[in-house]
Order: sequence, then C-alpha cells, then structure tokens
Amino acid sequence: MEKKPSFALALHGGAGTITRASLTPHMEQEYRAALRQALEVGYKILREEGSALTAVEATVVHLEDCPLFNAGRGSVFNKLGYHEMDAALMCGKTLEAGAITGVRNIRNPILLASEVLHHSDHVLLSHPGAEDFARNQGLAFEPDAYFFTQQRYDQWQALRDTDVYMLDHSETGEKKFGTVGAVAVDLAGDLAAATSTGGMTNKNFNRVGDTPLIGAGTYANNKTCAVSCTGHGEYFIRHVVAYDISCLMEYKGMSLAQACNLVVHQKLKQYGGEGGLVAVSPTGEVTLPFNSEGMYRASWVAGGEPLVGIYQE
Ligand code: ASP
Repeated sequence: MEKKPSFALALHGGAGTITRASLTPHMEQEYRAALRQALEVGYKILREEGSALTAVEATVVHLEDCPLFNAGRGSVFNKLGYHEMDAALMCGKTLEAGAITGVRNIRNPILLASEVLHHSDHVLLSHPGAEDFARNQGLAFEPDAYFFTQQRYDQWQALRDTDVYMLDHSETGEKKFGTVGAVAVDLAGDLAAATSTGGMTNKNFNRVGDTPLIGAGTYANNKTCAVSCTGHGEYFIRHVVAYDISCLMEYKGMSLAQACNLVVHQKLKQYGGEGGLVAVSPTGEVTLPFNSEGMYRASWVAGGEPLVGIYQE
C-alpha cells in the first residue's frame, strides 16, 4: 500500500547550557510560546499545501524577528562590538542553495539567503557584497539599535577584550539565547532546510560559522533528509555534520534517527563538539538530537500534536 502523503516541520532556537535552574518560569514560558508560534507559522503553510522551502523560510523569519533568539533582531556581538549575521536556505528537490555571511544591518538575513538562492547565480555571498546585493533586491535594512538587546550586550561585556568566544547560550550567568533553524517536508514530498544566526559571542570579526556553509550547518536533499544545526560551529564545519548525516543515510542505509544519533552523540561528542540539530526525512520522520544540556526545539508531524522542548527529557 502506498504511504499517505504527509508533512512535518521541526525547528530549533539554539543549543547550549540551558538548564531548569538557568531559566525563570516566566522566561521558560516566553520561550515555549515563541517556539510554538514559530511552529504554527510553518505548519500552516505546509497544511495549506505550501512548499517546504516557503515554510522553513517563514518559520525562520518569525524566529529572526523575535529578540529572544540569536538571529536577526537580538543577534550576539562580535569582538569589535557589532553584529555580523550568517544564514542559509536549501531546497532538497533541486539542491539549490543560497547563503550569506558576515552581513550587517539586514533585517532578515534568511530573506537575503533566499534572494541568493532564487535570484543569483551564486550560493554564498559575504559582506559587503551581500549587502550590496540586498540593496539591489530591495531588502529591508535596520540601524544597529534594532539588533541591540541588553542581555546580549552584557554577555559580550563579560568576554570583551579576551580571546574567549562562546555560544550565546553557554553558561556565563546570563539567560541563554540561540541560533535558529527549521526543516520541513511538504505534501509533495519535497524537503528544505533554513538556518540563521548571529554566530558566537565575542567571535573574531569576519569569523564564519557552520550556519551558512552548505553541508556543515545546513543541508537538504530529497533523497535523504533536511538538517539544520546549532552549536559550536567550528566542530560542525570540521565534521561536515549536515552532509555527513545525509551520506550515512544514502550510502550506509541508516535511518534518519540512526544517522543523527551517531553524528551528534558519538562523532561530535568524542571531539567536544557541543550542540544539536533538527532533521526530517522524506517520509516525515523527525528527530531533534543534542548533546548539550538543552536545546530550544519544536516539531509537528501532520496529524500529530505539536511538541515543544527545552531541556533533556
Ligand atoms: N552554530 C552557530 C555558529 O557557530 C552558533 C549557534 O548555533 O548558536 O555560528
């Protein structure tokens, strides 16, 4: 019997040292509500037969606009005290991808990645050419003040003038925030992945993380899976995490869950690579593994209940 067409969406809002002790009940509620709202944005598009690409893009726009997360509004500060953002979007059907790195003042970096995917011959644009392209495409810019949040600024102050850089949601005494991402499979069986981030607090200026690197932090292929990662980017780049999961499925015949668990809980962990990811398969299997203390996450498979999580269960 042929499998009934289905759809599914999973998203993350960053991984790191997120413990019950580190969030007040009020903050926890705020995060849960924000994750749930973002989930609804993408789910509605999929339910109305929209594409996975449209769904992940809209979900990430919603998360970028929310100052609770380290992407778009609310991005972390780099070593020089300003915001440099990375984002990527990939279509599993065509393997087309668009990504941008180090961009400044772009209101929604994922929309710029989408412009690169749809309206350029390139895959990855960096600052300042990326902003030039954004201007030509008519994208919205915002002043530095739009991206500012007190907590992110305080986090940076704690590390300022040191060589330490860290996940915005790692334990420094402040609240935790995170990179955002979404993956989806739509009713047509097409997959897509989107990721957006301000990177890591106090990162070197012009540092590029895993998020905009296709195959590292973001990947989608209708044959296997769609993956969006969050965590210490340098490890995700070295381990080519998102593509590794796809390869384990394609060449070794692993299931989505097997491939993700191997990469997150063994391969990355063994080297100290902290983080997690969300992934979906063409048949609507969803998995959200992480090896950190917590990961802001949510998923919704057609016909099921929406799930929202923060800590290790
Ligand atoms: N992976 C991101 C980076 O390294 C950071 C994060 O996920 O919070 O830029």
